Amino acid sequence: MGPYRILLDCGMADISPLAAGLDQELPADLVLCSHAHPDHARGLLALHQAFPQLPIYASEATTYLLPLNWTSIDPNKIPHFCQALPLRSPVEFADGLSCELYPAGHLPGATAIRLTYTTDRRSYTLLYTGDFFLSNSRLVEGLPLEALRGLEPEVLIIEGTYGTARHPHRRQQENQLAERISRALAAEQSVLLPVPALGLGQEILMLLRSHHQFTGRNIDIWVDGNVAVGCDAYLNLLPHLPTSVQNFSRHQPLFWDEKIRPRVRRLPPELRHSVGQSPCIVITDETADLSAYLDLDLSSWLILLPQRPSRFGTTPESVSWVELTRDRFPDAAKQFKTDIKTGRLTVETYLLAQHCDGPGTTQLIHNLRPQHVVFIHGNSTYLADLTGLDELQNRYHVHCPAAGTLVELPIGETFLHPAAPETNYEGELTELGTVVTITLPDAIAADPRWQAFADTGLVEARWQGEELVLRGLSQRELLADRSDRSLPADLACCGNCRHQRGQRCWNQSSPLFGFKVTPDGYCPVFEPAAGKDEAKK
Ligand SMILES: [Zn+2]
Ligand SMILES: [Zn+2]
Repeated sequence: MGPYRILLDCGMADISPLAAGLDQELPADLVLCSHAHPDHARGLLALHQAFPQLPIYASEATTYLLPLNWTSIDPNKIPHFCQALPLRSPVEFADGLSCELYPAGHLPGATAIRLTYTTDRRSYTLLYTGDFFLSNSRLVEGLPLEALRGLEPEVLIIEGTYGTARHPHRRQQENQLAERISRALAAEQSVLLPVPALGLGQEILMLLRSHHQFTGRNIDIWVDGNVAVGCDAYLNLLPHLPTSVQNFSRHQPLFWDEKIRPRVRRLPPELRHSVGQSPCIVITDETADLSAYLDLDLSSWLILLPQRPSRFGTTPESVSWVELTRDRFPDAAKQFKTDIKTGRLTVETYLLAQHCDGPGTTQLIHNLRPQHVVFIHGNSTYLADLTGLDELQNRYHVHCPAAGTLVELPIGETFLHPAAPETNYEGELTELGTVVTITLPDAIAADPRWQAFADTGLVEARWQGEELVLRGLSQRELLADRSDRSLPADLACCGNCRHQRGQRCWNQSSPLFGFKVTPDGYCPVFEPAAGKDEAKK
């Protein structure tokens, strides 16, 4: 931006392309890291070692999690090369260049990065989402849409991992996974969940520790490999986790707990092979040799794999998984194939998304109202699906660049921001006794029409075919409703009484004399209003 070269994330396993053909001392003026997942952070240590003067920044929580990317190195030997930046507080890096981090959901410490470059004439804003998630999950609050609404950046660089796919509600995803695990245990199967070191594994642990299907049940959950190291790293992050999690951890340990059921423990290496003697749950690294856990003479196993957005096609998941395994563990893969055939081993997938689905992605874009949208991160077919959406094409300049291409981003001095399209909001229903509560996202209240809708706090609901239509009742309507429309003209009530004027009773012989009355009020000395009396005749 301006004269500054900024590197956003560095997930390269081999950073040599960054150093190749360099005509300047450094490959960038500064580096910003959105979050600690390997595909965004893996290359940072090598980058620091190659260019020690290159400043690298991230959120404080991210700086705690970064070492998980280099587990083969003694943590004490990893230098603290990454400087922590505060959340929601602008920092000036250089003349005219400033940055502000916003929590992005997805993973503790994950941030969306807003960069502003200001000249004498005007300022330019770029927002980079990193990986983001709008929904709250167990250990991370979702990206707060209201903090970024109406930002109108010139450029938005946004991830589109799930393309235009639509996901069930978060709670539904959790319930489905909990139900599947519970069913396996009931059938005397052990459950093996291979996951990345950070994020998904801890989410699942927290789900198992707080879901009604599991709380209090006599179940053993074993955690192995870098997932266990990841859990330890989370324990250092407590002040950065949601308040609900901090409260939880005041009453019981967040992860390691031998007393409160279900028990969660580190798996000692010597128990790996015999752990399935009685049905249990094992959470381990997705890169581990899973045959180490599966003694299929002891127990039958269910392997649950996270659904990957890039895996599609008609090949059964278990088959493609065995194919993938074959590269690294050929013997194990052969055995798995046989075990799947005999039914001792079952392989299935589940969805517990850590990224927004298509509607969530477009919702963020419409709330930001950028000039340019640049899609990154994920399968090119998925990104192309998003890029092709009419609702985006009609409003913004949409780009979906291949790696290594330079993107031209012409910026208009006056860009007319088109109105966002109508959004369908997703809510939740709760039925409690005789009351039904409908919970809607707070984004709905950002619309100027909300003021009028919620004016009185009362709504009218009516069926229209299969659909329920809600309408806000206005003050005027309420008054009019009470006095005329809803009351039959021949009803003996204050609304139809000749002594009622300006909602007060003026009949000296009435016990209500001088008081404010409601239209449907009544007293024994009611007398029909003259006009209404005549109308009746
Ligand atoms: Zn990520
Ligand atoms: Zn990512």
